Amino acid sequence: MSEDCIFCGIVDGEIPGRTVYEDDAALAFLDANPLTMGHTLVVPKTHYERLEDIPAGEATDFYAALHEVVPAVEDAVDAPAATVAFNNGEAAGQEVPHVHAHVIPRSEGDGAGP
Ligand code: 5GP
Ligand code: ZN
Repeated sequence: MSEDCIFCGIVDGEIPGRTVYEDDAALAFLDANPLTMGHTLVVPKTHYERLEDIPAGEATDFYAALHEVVPAVEDAVDAPAATVAFNNGEAAGQEVPHVHAHVIPRSEGDGAGP
């Protein structure tokens, strides 16, 4: 838990979030400003700022959550594909300093890609 971190607040239930998946290591919830229907964020429950800050063992657990969430989100909105992306650092557009994967359901010609 990091004070003043929005995503830690969602993990702790202090800030409302629309949870779509949860396990011991990770939480997935709908993005408040979706780029496409079903746009989901996947976060480690422990506060780390950048992808490379996650210790190797925990990174494996985080990847396991992604492995579950990506196809589940695609199925939920009947999308044939998804863009899965990290903004890793402020200069790349990371606005929330708690590592998060964007899972953005995609369809042909939707123009929603990075
Ligand atoms: P970033 O630019 O850091 O990669 O993405 C941050 C994402 O978090 C944005 O897509 C934004 O819409 C989302 N976001 C920011 N604040 C909240 C919030 O309080 N709740 C939820 N569900 N999403 C948020
Ligand atoms: Zn945090």
